[in-house]
Amino acid sequence: MKDIDWANLSFGYMKTDYNVRCYYRDGKWGELELCSEETLNIHMAATCLHYGQEAFEGLKAYRGKDGKIRVFRPQANAERLQSTCRGILMPELPTETFCEAVRKVVKANERFIPPYESGASLYIRPLLIGTGAQVGVHPANEYLFVVFVTPVGPYFKGGFATNPYVIIRQFDRAAPLGTGTYKVGGNYAASLRANKIAHDAGYASEFYLDAKEKKYIDECGAANFFGIKDNTYITPLSTSILPSITNRSLMQLAEDMGMKVERRPIPEEELETFEEAGACGTAAVISPIERIDDLENHKSYIIAKDGKPGPVSEKLYNRLRAIQYGDEPDPHGWVMLVE
Ligand SMILES: *Cc1c(COP(=O)(O)O)cnc(C)c1O
Repeated sequence: MKDIDWANLSFGYMKTDYNVRCYYRDGKWGELELCSEETLNIHMAATCLHYGQEAFEGLKAYRGKDGKIRVFRPQANAERLQSTCRGILMPELPTETFCEAVRKVVKANERFIPPYESGASLYIRPLLIGTGAQVGVHPANEYLFVVFVTPVGPYFKGGFATNPYVIIRQFDRAAPLGTGTYKVGGNYAASLRANKIAHDAGYASEFYLDAKEKKYIDECGAANFFGIKDNTYITPLSTSILPSITNRSLMQLAEDMGMKVERRPIPEEELETFEEAGACGTAAVISPIERIDDLENHKSYIIAKDGKPGPVSEKLYNRLRAIQYGDEPDPHGWVMLVE
């Protein structure tokens, strides 16, 4: 095998040895299959291709200082996938099957798990798609669940750093009663143009307000938002936000650290009052926010006055990473060991 340059991995796709597949046919899920083929052979009338019957997840495996392999909160991903399945009428995959598939694919690709010192990790991508042929708009009768992995580099190569974001009003990621709370590809298709506008203008990502009133904070691109002030961790409550497992974990850690936690609508103007703010998700854990520009209203909310991440964000980031890599105890039982 060619040597992998662990220190210079990006967030791209690298071929690994195996993926795990599970087929849903005749009303039931089959056995997990280990597969070395990278491609899928599916019917051209599969519902995932036409009507968006597609769900995905994202989680990571980490190699600890002790050499052990840890996967962060796979049960939570399994439950979120089940919620997505209910949302777009796909059969739910049992939690045990999901976790077993994750364990199997990680174990089979053990040589692709980056060493502890690299700060890199193994990204795990579960996918559930409607494969049954259908031309009328109906849910499929056959489904495929696939999990593949790819090694990814540390998100912050030059150290934990802040980024600018821009409020985009001309496109919505998800409707108030749409599919925003489900992890489906359609939400990403809806976000591509806004994301390109933001990137082309030099921002890390687009920033969404609620689709109905354009008054409250929704999501920070494909990440959840949180703000910090007066020893309180504040994150939006909305019917179009994807429930981030990272955010849920940070809320718990903030509480453990003696902070107050609030989940409520956050009006745009409140951005002015935050001492710190961040975008959170599996990829970066926390991506601290430098400022948020509202170009149409000629406003700029400067959050990191000195351009640096704040102390609370840094503490939360370090604490969560320490649990993921096994450097510190895991009091909430979030980690699944792969042996
Ligand atoms: C996946 C995702 C997140 C982050 O969720 P995590 O479970 O923390 O990785 C946030 N927002 C959107 C839109 C997502 O798809």
